[in-house]
Amino acid sequence: MRAAWGFPPAFRIAAWDIAYRGARGASERGFRPSFGELIAERRCLVCATDDIALEGWSATTNGVVCADCSRAVLAEGLAYGRVVAAYRGRAGSPRRSFGELYQAVVAFKERRGDWLAGAEPLARALAASVAEVQAGAAGAGPAKSFLLVPVPSYRGRRPHVALLTALAAVRLPGIAVRLGVLEKLRDFTQKGLAHDERRGESAGAYAVRRRWRSTVRGRHVIVADDLITTGTTLDVCARALLDAGAVAVDGAVIVRAIRAPPERMLTLGARQVRVQLRELDSRARTPVTPEPGTFWVQFACSVRCPVIAVAGPFPLPALDAAGYHRWVCRCGATHVIRAQREWRVAVRECLAVRVGERRPVELLVGVQQGPNRW
Ligand SMILES: [Zn+2]
Ligand SMILES: [Zn+2]
Repeated sequence: MRAAWGFPPAFRIAAWDIAYRGARGASERGFRPSFGELIAERRCLVCATDDIALEGWSATTNGVVCADCSRAVLAEGLAYGRVVAAYRGRAGSPRRSFGELYQAVVAFKERRGDWLAGAEPLARALAASVAEVQAGAAGAGPAKSFLLVPVPSYRGRRPHVALLTALAAVRLPGIAVRLGVLEKLRDFTQKGLAHDERRGESAGAYAVRRRWRSTVRGRHVIVADDLITTGTTLDVCARALLDAGAVAVDGAVIVRAIRAPPERMLTLGARQVRVQLRELDSRARTPVTPEPGTFWVQFACSVRCPVIAVAGPFPLPALDAAGYHRWVCRCGATHVIRAQREWRVAVRECLAVRVGERRPVELLVGVQQGPNRW
């Protein structure tokens, strides 16, 4: 908690209070054990995305890398090495758990509702990400060479990342933490901007404060943030830190933001149809109407296989019936897709889908209804 001075008094008191309770292992309030969705084991080695809506993954000896990261590395290079995230999240999903962590972060940032209840679990998640970065960089040097710094806010407004970093540091006794190393020089928005525009908008927006430059030199810096969406902020921070003499920069975040599922052109007999892929709800279900129809399932093959399978079209089973389908990947793995059509009072008819033992977290389902003419 040595790092928490410099906060407004209300923040400082809250931080001490939380740290005290956290240190005693007493605080779990506000978060259910099943709160949120942990990021899937199959995730991009570089940016931590586990989004199966993305195509074009490639396999490496250690795991899979998403198309965005492959492209970025080939094009201009990424300033940071990797990002570790604890949770996945997005607002507006039919599955409540998907939005829980995302909303907890936003509530904490904007100090809405019982925002302090989220502080300890959010800090714990951030600490876990930092520890994983450290573990992954084993052999890169002694732990002493790590330096943990938060992404700064503009003029100290909403210093939520710094507060969470200070709280996370309570759980990370072996790492040096400096809250004021980075400075945000100007405010900008990234909402609604394309990748290149984001880069242009944010270039040079962060800098290492002059008095901390000697501290940064020669260090392996871990940049803490609440959310990662495109990685642009981390990239800009990493460039500033490398300019100041850091030997490497990695990111540690709480939530990896996942985009909304896409529409996809899929083959139905001799024609192409536009199908909206959907996230399943927490019971692995999606509503359907009483008409017959077809469905497709999009899922990741396995932890080390780069294939995102789009299996289908399969006929929607009759009400109260189940259908079983097999899908064989080019890597040799066989996946059994089970679909059951059920009646639920809340949603009327729905389709429940599973692939092997996969939970809905790794599935997207596209449904096309109407008379079958294919
Ligand atoms: Zn990636
Ligand atoms: Zn495979």
